[in-house]
Amino acid sequence: MEMKERLKIPRQPMPEQEAKVRARNFEEVPLGYTPETAKLEALRCIQCKTPACVEGCPVEIDIPGFIALVAEGDFIGAAKKIKETNALPAVCGRVCPQESQCEILCVRGKKAEPVAVGRLERFVADYERAQGAVSIPKIAASTGKKIAIVGSGPAGLAVAGDLIKLGHDVTIFEALHKTGGVLVYGIPEFRLPKSIVEAEVDYLKKMGVKVATSHVIGKIATVDELFEEGFDAIFLGTGAGAPSFMNIPGENLNGVYSANEYLTRSNLMKAYRFPEYDTPIVRGKNVAVVGGGNVAMDAARTAMRLGADNVYLVYRRSRQEMPARIEEVHHAEEEGIQLNLLTTPIKYIGDEKGWVKAMECLRMELGEPDASGRRRPVPVEGSEFIWDVDTVVVAIGSGANPLVQETTPGLATNKWNNIVADEETGQTSREGVFAGGDIVTGAATVILAMGAGRKAAKAMHEYVMSK
Ligand SMILES: Cc1cc2nc3c(=O)[nH]c(=O)nc-3n(C[C@H](O)[C@H](O)[C@H](O)COP(=O)(O)OP(=O)(O)OC[C@H]3O[C@@H](n4cnc5c(N)ncnc54)[C@H](O)[C@@H]3O)c2cc1C
Ligand code: SF4
Repeated sequence: MEMKERLKIPRQPMPEQEAKVRARNFEEVPLGYTPETAKLEALRCIQCKTPACVEGCPVEIDIPGFIALVAEGDFIGAAKKIKETNALPAVCGRVCPQESQCEILCVRGKKAEPVAVGRLERFVADYERAQGAVSIPKIAASTGKKIAIVGSGPAGLAVAGDLIKLGHDVTIFEALHKTGGVLVYGIPEFRLPKSIVEAEVDYLKKMGVKVATSHVIGKIATVDELFEEGFDAIFLGTGAGAPSFMNIPGENLNGVYSANEYLTRSNLMKAYRFPEYDTPIVRGKNVAVVGGGNVAMDAARTAMRLGADNVYLVYRRSRQEMPARIEEVHHAEEEGIQLNLLTTPIKYIGDEKGWVKAMECLRMELGEPDASGRRRPVPVEGSEFIWDVDTVVVAIGSGANPLVQETTPGLATNKWNNIVADEETGQTSREGVFAGGDIVTGAATVILAMGAGRKAAKAMHEYVMSK
């Protein structure tokens, strides 16, 4: 097709489940491109010689390269091209914030809409899986070196994928009974089907990665004991799963959850299918979710799917400062989530049985920018009011998982208890111990965790081979 014609093709929309229907089920919201729409979208890429999009990708996927293959209809080739630098394309195509990474830099976005890089990434990964075309790459001859990975989130999985290919003996230790970290216990099924994460972990297992679930490092064995057992190097990818609270009265009432517990119950323990699965969850009718990030959106949309009449998102700043992805806010509002901006809870009120029945809130206004550059919310004096709610989910952030730091002498941490590690290599203050992902940066993104994992894998390979 002539370039002139290609420039006329509009950005291909993503078909989705209808808002009213999907708000009451846990199935995935976007339905994915067809081969025809994928090819059309791919033709919109003008194959820049110096592609700006790649600069925005933390793992530097050859974006024009894979898109050219999609345009030719070589979808399997396109999947292989992405996998040269990104082991989890079906995950990243769904959850990466493309609008602030690759797509925001796409030159087509200057005069029209950017090329839908994320949708194309998702399409090729799904196509490859559906065709059963996922092939196991060549594994190098055994080096005899043993690597332990603590945590099976995207950081740990990225390390495992790279080091197994280089011929090392790799074992992942995971505290939970399932692998995937936030991909399985945090991000809901309707945004990231768990079968996709399972397929990615199976792929690693097929390459020879050993996985030990229900293994809490710091309890079952310490980092030093892993060295004594013969591991040559250890990667710490334990994530930021410790929930934060506001420390206001009533937070210990029944029906007040951390987002971490609420989402873990629903996602990991499949509480939304109780009693078929044996973990219960409160199915509130009037649910308040406190926070304005992706986690808050996930919790609010989960509450709606669990059958709430009203789900209120309570956020202390305005819409502009909300850290959640625009797409998530848009989807949430379509599903009936009510945004209550410039509002903060100051107290939860319980009934005689100790269950939350209301919350006292304050209205806020925006003052001067704070250290984050966002305008600071300031309470409006005398604006207190009471609001009837029967469930509250607190989604105001989470901190470092602490156990490994507490049980590893000499491991340097910062004031937030994040592990201090070199940005380029993941090297920590302990020889042979590397770290990356949320445990180092604080809560961030899947692709940044994977990027950190890949850098650490390279450094770990050099370290064990030089020993
Ligand atoms: C609800 C929610 C929604 C999100 N949505 C998005 C999104 O849309 N897009 C995006 O890019 N990012 C999103 N994120 C952030 C993203 O998921 C994280 O940045 C990413 O998962 C971090 O990866 P990680 O490997 O560092 O840690 P994690 O994914 O947290 O994995 C750490 C793993 O280590 C295990 N572990 C901890 N301590 C131990 C121990 N002592 N022994 C053994 N195992 C241990 C944990 O059980 C866990 O499985 C979201 C996060 C949440 C909570
Ligand atoms: S910047 Fe946009 S048009 Fe250029 S190569 Fe990247 S995706 Fe294609």
